[in-house]
Parts: sequence; C-alpha cells; structure tokens
Amino acid sequence: TEATTGVTAGRLSLAAPQPLLIGGEEVRAARTFPAVDPSTGRVWAQVAEGTAGDVDRAVAAARSAFDTWRRTSLDTRQALLWAVAERLTQDAGRWPALLATENGRAVREGGLIDVPTAAEIFRFFSGVVRDLHGRTVPCGPGAHVSTTPRPLGVVAAIVPWNSPLISVAHKLAPALAAGNTVVVKPSELASVSTVEFVRLVQDLFPPGVVNVVTGFGPEAGHALVSHPDVAKVSFTGGTETGRRILGGVSERLVPALMELGGKGAMVVCPDADLDTVTEDVLTGVFAANGEVCFASSRLMVHRDRHDELLERVVARAEAIVVGDALDPATQLGPLVTAGHRDLVAARVRAALCEGARLRAGGRVPEMPGELAGGSYYRPTVLASPDGTTSASCEEFFGPVLTVESWTSEEEVVERANRVAFGLANGVWSTDLAQAYRLADRLDSGMVWINTWFATPLGQPQGGVKASGFGREGATSTLLEYTSTKVVHASL
Ligand code: NAD
Repeated sequence: TEATTGVTAGRLSLAAPQPLLIGGEEVRAARTFPAVDPSTGRVWAQVAEGTAGDVDRAVAAARSAFDTWRRTSLDTRQALLWAVAERLTQDAGRWPALLATENGRAVREGGLIDVPTAAEIFRFFSGVVRDLHGRTVPCGPGAHVSTTPRPLGVVAAIVPWNSPLISVAHKLAPALAAGNTVVVKPSELASVSTVEFVRLVQDLFPPGVVNVVTGFGPEAGHALVSHPDVAKVSFTGGTETGRRILGGVSERLVPALMELGGKGAMVVCPDADLDTVTEDVLTGVFAANGEVCFASSRLMVHRDRHDELLERVVARAEAIVVGDALDPATQLGPLVTAGHRDLVAARVRAALCEGARLRAGGRVPEMPGELAGGSYYRPTVLASPDGTTSASCEEFFGPVLTVESWTSEEEVVERANRVAFGLANGVWSTDLAQAYRLADRLDSGMVWINTWFATPLGQPQGGVKASGFGREGATSTLLEYTSTKVVHASL
C-alpha cells in the first residue's frame, strides 16, 4: 500500500569538473571529489577539493577587491544586487533539477521555493541598502559627533547543504550590500549549485568581490575561518560545528554570526482548528525531507485533542509518496546521504528503546531499479506522550515527528523550553490571548501563531541558546556586516 515513484529518465550528469572561483577566474583544483545523487547513489559531478593554499588565494583576492568595493556608491550596490536577482530568475528553469539532484529535496519543492526565495533576498537587500546610514549624536554645544556604518572587510560565508541557494543568498546579499567582499565555502554535500550560481553572476562585480572555494569542512572550511585576513565569520550549519568554529575565531577576536540547529515544538491548544494544524504539521516536519533547521519535529498536543490529532497525522504520514527527487509526483525524496539516513534511523531506534512507540514509518522502503541505491527513509511518527525520550530533545534533521501530550500551560512551557535549542516554536489556538501568552514564554528566536515556516523578508530569522545568534533576512542584518565608526569633532 506504500506509495513510491519509479526512476525518472534523463538524469543530470556534469562532464566537466567544477572549478573554484577565485578573483573572477575559474580555477582548476589539483584534486576533485564526487558529488553523489542521493536518489540513486550515483556520482553525477566532480567538485574541486580546495586546499588551504586555495583559501589563501581567495582571501587575498577578496582583500584586494575590498578596497574598491567598499568605495562603490549605494546606487551601484543597489543596482548590482537587483541584477543578481534578475539573472537568477531569468535562468530559473535550470535550477529545480540541479537542486533535486544535489541534495534529494523533491523537485516540486526546490523548484517552487528556492530560486524565487534566493532572488527575493537579493531584491530585499537591494531595496534596503539605502537604509545604511549613520547618526549625529547630541553631545553638547562644543562637539559634533557623527557615526557611520563601515564594512568589515572579507567575510567568510560557510553554508550547509539543505537549502544551498537560499543560505548563500542570506550571506552574500547583506554582506555585499554593506560593502564587504566574500569567500563562500559551500557544503561538501551540495557544492554544485553555489558554484553554478556564482558563475552566473560573478561578472556583475569587480573581480574578487565574490569567491567560492569548495572542499571539506575540516580542511578548506577550517583554513577559511582561521585565516588572519577574515574579518567576519558568517556560519549556517550544525551546532557542534558552530561551537568548534567559534572556539577558533574567539582566539582572534573575530565577530561571528551563527545560524545553528533547532528542535521546533508545535504547541496545540484545546481549541485549535485541527484541519489547519494537520496541514501545518505535515508541512512543518516533512517539507524538504525534514532536513530544515525550522522543522517542527515535536508536536505537543493538549490531552483533549491528542488522540484525534495523532491519528490524523499518522494516516497522512502513511500516505506520503516517497521517491526519486526528480519525479514531480514525489512528496518526500531521499535523505542527503546514506550515512545521514543511517544516523536518522539510529536515532529513531534509540528513541524506541527509551520507550517511544512507533506509529508510522521507522524504516527504509523498498525502492525499484536504480532507486535501490538511494538513501530513502519513510516518514516517521513516534508517540512519546510524556516527552521523556531523546526524540523530544534531539535534532533529527530528517522526516521524524514526535507527538507528545500536555495538560497545563505551565507544563508545556517547561517541557518545550527544556531543550538546548531555541530557533522556532509554534502555537495553535483560536484563543489569541492564550496564543500570545504562550508565544511570550517560549524560548526561541521565532514563534509562529497558527502557521509554520512563514519567513517573509524583513522578519528577522535566527535563534537563541544552542541555535546561535545574529539575525538574517531583515534590514538590521546589514548591521551584522558593519562596525560603527564615530567621529567626534571639537567645535
Ligand atoms: P555542518 O555543520 O556539518 O556543516 C556546515 C558547513 O560547515 C559545511 O560547509 C561544512 O563543510 C562546514 N564545516 C564543517 N566543519 C568545519 C570546520 N571545522 N571549520 C569550518 N567549516 C566547517 O552542517 P550541515 O550538516 O551541512 O547542515 C545541517 C545543520 O545546519 C543542521 O543542524 C541545521 O539545523 C543547520 N541549519 C541551520 C539553519 C539556520 O538558519 N539556523 C539553516 C540551515 C541549516
């Protein structure tokens, strides 16, 4: 009865190895490593394995471009950021298949969301760049005191694999708008889209303003974040990696922005509209295969509605079509690698040993033909009513939902806040006073009321606690990439 798709014809395969992009040039690396299509397990591209020497060259190119770029007018920056969005949109047709091949996210999602969102991020910062301004400070009659936001220099942008275009856009657009130059280190699991994107737009900028060094985290990534000429580290990725990077940059007193992991709780109150909640839960946990930092992987339902909502969610999870990421019929693609799938499966087994009950999924589906080499995992629902298993506090970063029950506001707030993370939580209630009361008490950078995943530009995105610090996607993000310079004149 379980729905799966067949193999899609005409899979992507790139003949030429991907270059590094340094100082406006395409540079061949001495060594490459394979990019694997998670739908089949087959190699589809070769990625340049950047070294510490390549990082050195990229940072030097960015450092020398900084002197020019920091002096460009806001008009110029505004026009160029807009032009990036235009190119990306004109070229939109090629991205869905590339993105789906790269990380296994179903083509119907990646195609619909990633390109328009990345373009919108560039348009947003093109618009707000003119809000970069200083102030005068009234310090008495004998002084004229003014402040100016100044770009920092070379920004190291380290991004993950789950939504590579959106993550890169969130770093590049504000950093460039504020007058910085950038070296991007994409994830080793999703490098091709970033290289292709920067290739598409780099001629818009003076050489060296945007550079890309692909390669492995502990080598190229480490070399970049420890480079003495890097003025800011902007990182999106796992909490452990973030901690390691921060340890290094703290020695050199380099500022950092950290967008880290999450464990989102969806708190459902007794009077919530369960039709809306069911749709939001399914999107919240199974969109992008659950490989989203904002995933709502923990459903906390008032005990009066718990059984009914659990049954609804289980029935819907069992009907989800798992399959080839390139097939438009697929609702849930393969996880990014077999290793990551095995990690998710091991976390599910651990939760079951601790007493959680398996209500849907929890296993690797049988797939036809070439798809047998892919890294698939059925959408999984675990029941853990009192929230005492590891499933209630660990980030799965996969299609796994834990369902819990609660009785009082006090209890649900205490349990929701017990996790180390603090990225995004949600409340579903038709009693807005209750919803706002709960939203106020949940410890996270974001709380959604009667919705999930709503991240319009202008609304700051980011976390607290082990989910990191710094905010992306808002006008204030420009200040993450500047320092305030004061000039005090004695009159
Ligand atoms: P990861 O931490 O394994 O890798 C992220 C990036 O860091 C990659 O480019 C990697 O090569 C690099 N890296 C690894 N070790 C490094 C080192 N020592 N020095 C410098 N760079 C290094 O994360 P991932 O598996 O790619 O992504 C999944 C994680 O990202 C999840 O925890 C998810 O929640 C988080 N994430 C957070 C957000 C957010 O906005 N808060 C968004 C997307 C993903």
